[in-house]
Amino acid sequence: MNEESKTKLDELFNAFSTVSEGAYVYVCDMDDDYSRWSKSAVDYFDLPNEYMEGAGAIWEEHVHPDDRENYNHSIATIFDGTSGGHDMQYRARTRNGEYVTCTCKGVVIRQSDGRPKYFAGSIKNHGLHNYTDTVTGLRSLYGFFEDLRGMFWSHDEGIILQIGTTGFSQVNDIYGYSFGNRIFQTLARFIRKKLFSFGSVYRMDGTKIAAITHGLSERQLQEIYEEIKEEVSKEFYVDGNHVSLALNAGYVVIDSFTVNDKTAYACLKSAYYESKKRRLGALVRFDDGMSDDNQKHLEILNVIRNSISEDFKGFALFYQPVVDAATEKIKGAEALIRWRDATYGLIPPDWFIPVLEQDMLFPSLGEWILRRAMTDGKEMLAKHPNFTMNVNLSYTQLEQEGFIDMVMELLAETGFPAENLCLEITERCRLIDMELLKHIVLTFRENGVKIALDDFGTGFSTLGIIRELAVDTVKIEREFVKGIETRVEDQITVEFISSLADAFSAEVCVEGVETESMKEYLKKYKVHSFQGYYYSKPVPYDEFVELPIY
Ligand code: C2E
Ligand code: CA
Repeated sequence: MNEESKTKLDELFNAFSTVSEGAYVYVCDMDDDYSRWSKSAVDYFDLPNEYMEGAGAIWEEHVHPDDRENYNHSIATIFDGTSGGHDMQYRARTRNGEYVTCTCKGVVIRQSDGRPKYFAGSIKNHGLHNYTDTVTGLRSLYGFFEDLRGMFWSHDEGIILQIGTTGFSQVNDIYGYSFGNRIFQTLARFIRKKLFSFGSVYRMDGTKIAAITHGLSERQLQEIYEEIKEEVSKEFYVDGNHVSLALNAGYVVIDSFTVNDKTAYACLKSAYYESKKRRLGALVRFDDGMSDDNQKHLEILNVIRNSISEDFKGFALFYQPVVDAATEKIKGAEALIRWRDATYGLIPPDWFIPVLEQDMLFPSLGEWILRRAMTDGKEMLAKHPNFTMNVNLSYTQLEQEGFIDMVMELLAETGFPAENLCLEITERCRLIDMELLKHIVLTFRENGVKIALDDFGTGFSTLGIIRELAVDTVKIEREFVKGIETRVEDQITVEFISSLADAFSAEVCVEGVETESMKEYLKKYKVHSFQGYYYSKPVPYDEFVELPIY
């Protein structure tokens, strides 16, 4: 590296150090991959020098093996230009071989021509990593990951489970934070007492408890969970006060080791959420009713999960036309994700979206989907100027910090007009806080982006939602139109939903239109667009643009 570049690097480094009080600082010249790091970081983490070439790889060695995948993914997206920076937590190894938790914030600084030039950031050291939770005395989340990895290494069959509470924040509101802690502590001990003879019990994030068990049958687990649930909802006393808690639980049976610990954990979270949000706290087994082969499902998920890190290998968007109900001309398309490979063939989204949306890698897939849909959509716009591209969202994307900005930036980057994008809020999106959802919907609409309510009529809070959120379109779930020509119940439902949407000035799109007579019958309602196999199944881009309707 020449002297001039080095001086510039030093100047930038000094400026960064001044504003990053209390944190380690690094600045990397991305052209030469040459960087300067704080002296204190060099000493504390035993790095070779304040000036380093290829510091990314050197630092990676210090990142905890469990956190590396996440770290590498983030760095790769920064260097290939798909991301403008990162804000992440990981554990880093010190000179003494201990791990400390760090928050690392980095930004890419670009040259006037937009080319990335520097990667600069700060690393905040939160101190030694705690393997014991101070409230419950149980092993912490990190202990759980360590033991879960051990389970996979040693091929120990067993069941992993997670139990948590509903509405614990209300408990804190009613009793105060410190008594709230006492309640949680008592609950944790109670659960531990019931399970400890089968394995270890852990405090997870929030008010959740996990266990890694061996020799516990599913039937025993069911009985134990019923006992726990019964007692904490009725006979639960903390320091003489009667408390009632509602629980949820999910579990995964681990009896083959073709998957890794991270996939298993994403599946555990997905079973837990199913229990919490849809099954009123019943014990949910991962994969129940989804496939007849739990292990095969896990194995495929593992491969799909890995392909996110391999530049989204195997992922593709299919497009299904949306047609105008009156003219039957094409109005737009819905983008639907698929994954395929030579071994497993074409895998539909129901197999992986509910699990992957619990995964820390999901935001990058969500971004990939949006970018792809906008890029393809731009081509479609050239032929049909009013074309609307519909993209499905997961609720975890909406909870993601900076999600709205990310979408707006993608629109700018791809040159796709906001007015031609419609984001579909699926039934699962309604699980997030209503105030947050309202804010998101409002902000998108203010920026011109359209919003549709997907699978309308299937959720718990259907009626409330259409009152609370001003949306552009309501999509009627295909279950309700299946028997439209003969079933009075379906006719009443479609009549009701379309009048309701009309009252709130939303358009109606009917999904699952499979035959000509269905579509003719549906025309007597206030509906604006149709989507279904009658017009076309979802097809790859190349086939889409060849459709007769296109
Ligand atoms: P959805 O949003 O309700 O999507 C419509 C589903 O109905 C699609 O299934 C589509 O292939 C199917 N379909 C369309 N017309 C007909 C018809 O006439 N008859 C029948 N029987 N089915 C029809 P697909 O592609 O398997 O998607 C399933 C679900 O996966 C979607 O339901 C959506 O919730 C989710 N999903 C798909 N792509 C994405 C994505 O990119 N992101 C997110 N977050 N979720 C996605
Ligand atoms: Ca949809």
